[in-house]
Amino acid sequence: MPQTHSFNLLLRNARLRGGQGVQDIAVRQGRIAAIGPDLTGTAALEEDIGGRLVLPGLVDTHIHLDKSCLLCRCRDAGGGLKGAIAAVSGLKRAFTAEDVYQRGARTLERAIMQGTMHMRAHVELDPLVGLRSFEAMTRLKRDYAFAIDLSICVFPQEGMTHDPAVERLLVQALAEGADLLGGCPYTDADPSLQMERIFALAVAHDVDLDVHLDFDLDPSWSHLEEICRRTMAAGWQGRVAVGHATKLAAIDDAALERMTALLAEAGVAVTALPATDLYLNGRDLKHRASRGVAPVHLLADGGVTVSVATNNVLNPFTPFGDGSLIRMGNLYANLMHLGPERFGDCLDMVSTTAARLMRIADYGIAVGGQADLIVLDADDEADAFGGIAFPLMGFKRGRRSFVRPAAMLVR
Ligand SMILES: [Zn+2]
Repeated sequence: MPQTHSFNLLLRNARLRGGQGVQDIAVRQGRIAAIGPDLTGTAALEEDIGGRLVLPGLVDTHIHLDKSCLLCRCRDAGGGLKGAIAAVSGLKRAFTAEDVYQRGARTLERAIMQGTMHMRAHVELDPLVGLRSFEAMTRLKRDYAFAIDLSICVFPQEGMTHDPAVERLLVQALAEGADLLGGCPYTDADPSLQMERIFALAVAHDVDLDVHLDFDLDPSWSHLEEICRRTMAAGWQGRVAVGHATKLAAIDDAALERMTALLAEAGVAVTALPATDLYLNGRDLKHRASRGVAPVHLLADGGVTVSVATNNVLNPFTPFGDGSLIRMGNLYANLMHLGPERFGDCLDMVSTTAARLMRIADYGIAVGGQADLIVLDADDEADAFGGIAFPLMGFKRGRRSFVRPAAMLVR
């Protein structure tokens, strides 16, 4: 920074969530140095954003970059969840690191330009694909660090306990820089043994756990209680998350209350993945299908850390997606009958509480915090969320990381 400037970045006339009027935000060395009206000082980059809403960079806690953008290779997966797993399994052997990198980069760039600045990528490891997807992910993490903090969660999508090679690959990836471990007990020949092994590995490697769980609408069995029990036994409270947990959409009020209390006590977070959950669940009920998405806002009311995330983009699990977390939160609110009085809670699920799930330090717009900022083309929180406002620009650690000028009519 030249000595003549007091700041690296100065955003003039920003509107903040819950704030009155407009404020300036000043950034020095990647951190927010001051917030207030009409700040004095100069900056290497000064931008008047005209009263638009500024949010902290959004947080996608659950996405599969390695199997995104596969629609052109398998248009018709059919068959719901099993069909989708089988379709990708059939393609996976042919994945090269370069192929995974190119498809992952396409999805990552879309997400960045939708305002995402933190992301947990779930990456499949097994003898079919080896470490190739993981290698691509470590390159993506490095090459896009200017715009996004990518956290790599390695997991066995197609079972673990039937073949010792799977666990060896997970351990190798953890040794080579994977950030945390995932799981998928419902596809394992021995779900309980998989849970036992992933907890043992998480403790041995001192990493968090994020597990695909309870992905159907049959309330007669569940792995959620076992996960909570193992979390408390391992002393891993606050370090375990589960994704899907859609059985929570199929149980009665009393059972949901019981599960909420248990999740809160165990410090187990829950992520709803509305696009995939809506697309794959309840197919046997045809036009009468229920929504099949975990009611995470009710869990949050009971003290559970929750997030809403993307999961899949343009593949057999979810043949939709643009990487927009505001759109995903909007979809969640819409299907859960949540109106403007709860839009802020839904926005939290792709920002503040999602950051808590990922244990991101110094998250949020406050003096001293990391200057990860996006400017939305809206001047009001409810309009931004309800209307799915686009980000116009983003600043990662105070440095401009993307621009996305507003569309204009040409009369
Ligand atoms: Zn997933």
